[in-house]
Amino acid sequence: MRPPRFGRVTLSALLLLSCALSALDAGCAISSIARAPASAVEVSPIASLVPTPSVEPSGSADASPSPLATGSADATETTAALPKPRVARLPRPIAGLPAPGPSHEVTGPRDLGVPVLMYHVIAVAPRGARNPDLYVKPGDFVAQMRYLAKNGYHAVTLQRVYDFWHNGATLPSKPVVLSFDDGDTPDFTVVAPLLNELHWPGVLNLIVGRHRPRLKPPIVRALIEAGWEIDSHTVTHTDMPGLPAKQLAFEIGQSRKLLRRMYRVPVNFFCYPTGRFDAAAVAAVQEAGYLGATTTLGGLARPGQPFLMRRVRVSGGESVEYFAYLLSHDR
Ligand SMILES: [Zn+2]
Repeated sequence: MRPPRFGRVTLSALLLLSCALSALDAGCAISSIARAPASAVEVSPIASLVPTPSVEPSGSADASPSPLATGSADATETTAALPKPRVARLPRPIAGLPAPGPSHEVTGPRDLGVPVLMYHVIAVAPRGARNPDLYVKPGDFVAQMRYLAKNGYHAVTLQRVYDFWHNGATLPSKPVVLSFDDGDTPDFTVVAPLLNELHWPGVLNLIVGRHRPRLKPPIVRALIEAGWEIDSHTVTHTDMPGLPAKQLAFEIGQSRKLLRRMYRVPVNFFCYPTGRFDAAAVAAVQEAGYLGATTTLGGLARPGQPFLMRRVRVSGGESVEYFAYLLSHDR
């Protein structure tokens, strides 16, 4: 969903935010810039079917490293000396979805167009919501997942698609990427149990400075353990076009470093907030070491423009027939 705008952030404010972010995992308050208002997501019909998720730790106190605690952003560095970070318990899978058929892996064509579905909030839109088209009702989402499973689709991560396009890896013959922007509570309470039932990963485009109180680190870790890919959606979700170079580096490069340190995952893909970008933003994404970036341009993602990957917007209210049409419609 489109968060409130904060206008242009000064460098000093960014430094303050950067310091505040170091306290994210330590349970300290973060700066007002980084703190998002609580999401006004209504209780969804399907939520009543799902046991109340335990977001409490299954381990001891959260002693995961502060994102800025070390000078290294290497996601592969050893954690042997660190206490195990807290991981939330995933809600139980929801029964009743058809099991996807066996995955028929293919090796080509290497320029295969892949639908990257773009979701925001899987919930009933609150009355008076500013952007009701960002909400997909849980019942509609279930119907869409059922359609995918019954029609031979298999959800994969962007990394798998990239490795198919560029590194000779195989891919299911009917791949689909399920991407969820911003990081909202239903990603965990509604989406994760559904995808768990199907043994499918989601792709979470996470706003680094705002995943509290919506998706706390233990929840993000649970999604990672369930196979989800975590990608960057900036620090503050500000518009990219026209940003000074230092702020671009902060929103794009620093967000990647922070996520890598917090979760020890590659964070190889970036998602432009509200889909807006300019040449400087695209260059900054490449400079920061990402392998690709997703936009809100409509159509299938293809390997030719990895930093301007198209997506298929799911706006809610579509019939299953129209959803099926979107999956194969290339612009
Ligand atoms: Zn967003």
